[in-house]
Amino acid sequence: MLFGKMIVLRNAEEIAILKENALLVSKTLAEIGKRIKPGVTTLELDKVAETFIRDHGAEPAFLGYNKFPNSLCVSVNDVVVHGIPSGYQLKEGDIVSVDCGTRYKGYYGDSAYTFAVGEISPAARRLMTVTKEALFKGIAQAVDGNRIGDVSFAVQQHAEQHGYSVVREMVGHGLGRRMHEAPEVPNFGRRGHGKQLKEGMVICIEPMINEGTKNVYLDNDEWTLHTGDNKLSAHYELTVCVRKGTPEILSTFDYIEQL
Ligand code: MG
Ligand code: MG
Repeated sequence: MLFGKMIVLRNAEEIAILKENALLVSKTLAEIGKRIKPGVTTLELDKVAETFIRDHGAEPAFLGYNKFPNSLCVSVNDVVVHGIPSGYQLKEGDIVSVDCGTRYKGYYGDSAYTFAVGEISPAARRLMTVTKEALFKGIAQAVDGNRIGDVSFAVQQHAEQHGYSVVREMVGHGLGRRMHEAPEVPNFGRRGHGKQLKEGMVICIEPMINEGTKNVYLDNDEWTLHTGDNKLSAHYELTVCVRKGTPEILSTFDYIEQL
């Protein structure tokens, strides 16, 4: 659910605070990355994130959001998004999508990364690689004068060219004083369509790409979203400020990938 229809253009001061949030989320995901291994429970990861975020003077934005019970969404294998941390112990060969949010100085951070647990199958690795590539294809379109559909199309085309499917039910979004603001940023769409992007818009681009069917179903817990055929799904998310010429990526995977 998005709050309002108005797309806000952020000034330099606001973008600086959004970047502080973005980097804190990025560092939190790296803390999680250090601990991802067979045997660790997803609830242990959640506690690491909550402590790390609070130690930096921020709040875990997901905790209590629409009554979500934890600080991270931890989505294993066929779970697309919104997995609830639990006593489930990660095992060799799992892929685990971790989505994290912060609130700091009145603004939000929101980023996600799919991690491998130990050795994973070549098929799982390929899905992760293509999903991350799709994210960066989308980001490249987030420039002043383009339209949302340019971002959406770029993501969809890359995923589908590799034989994967794009989840329709969940989309990217604007980010600011709320975690989910206008505009919606779908991972499917048509070039040249949708709202025009303008310098100073801050959006989260977050492809959720499935190995098999694009369809999803909701678990009995009313949060966990599974792939319709229980095949794998991957999810990467970064926060981007629309600029003229070249987009400015506020969050980063560098802390994770330097591990
Ligand atoms: Mg997120
Ligand atoms: Mg998001």
